Amino acid sequence: MRYFIGNWKMFGVPKSINLLKKINLFHSKDKNRKKYRVIVTPPYTLIETYAKYFKNKNISIGSQNCYHKGQFSSNTAAVSPYMIKSVGAKYTLIGHSDNRSEGDTNEMLKSKVQLALKNNLKVVFCIGENKSEKKNKKTFKVLKEQISKVLDRKLNKQNIIVAYEPIWSIGTGKIPTKKELEKTTGHIKKVLKEIFKKSPAVLYGGSVDEGNVRMFKEIKEIDGFLIGGASKSSKKFIDIIKNYYR
Ligand code: PGA
Repeated sequence: MRYFIGNWKMFGVPKSINLLKKINLFHSKDKNRKKYRVIVTPPYTLIETYAKYFKNKNISIGSQNCYHKGQFSSNTAAVSPYMIKSVGAKYTLIGHSDNRSEGDTNEMLKSKVQLALKNNLKVVFCIGENKSEKKNKKTFKVLKEQISKVLDRKLNKQNIIVAYEPIWSIGTGKIPTKKELEKTTGHIKKVLKEIFKKSPAVLYGGSVDEGNVRMFKEIKEIDGFLIGGASKSSKKFIDIIKNYYR
């Protein structure tokens, strides 16, 4: 199974659903449709409407983050996995670098993953090194730490997907070389196998577009994509899928 996940970040209003309707229409006619799953993570404000609309269709809706404790609490602006699940989301991203840079610690991420799984959300756990870690050849060490401080063998691996997103690649148009990716994704799967015996799916994220997607296809450890910028255009998103299976 392959995954194409669109991460809208802080974009989208109710009428943006038209973009998803186009993707859904494409998917319903695509001869390859059984080979992949489309998931979109709009802002919290849109989850309920979109999840309702796509309930019996083929796009799953997720959230971009969740709070790390509780079901309800007096914490202003916090949204718990329970609340996210209650409006129809099936997935949540956890540990996106945007949120790590705003204070998400490994301890918080660990609680988020546990709580999300407990509330029957599937988790897309994001990891990735920054520019200076890459420059100082710390990538392998950083990725191993990010994984092992948060994931453990007691978790239900069926409901976990890992997204490798090098921070220096997010929104920059820069992508790792094929060789780099083969090494890093191989390393990630090895670390995950040490924990879970069988590795969960590993996605790549960072400047994925309709032009470069075929290169990623050649890397056997990559099971799909987390797509930011290009997921805001139905044409680009559809072309990414089309070009992947071309
Ligand atoms: P990008 O973002 O595709 O715009 O690089 C990816 C992400 O942040 O998930």
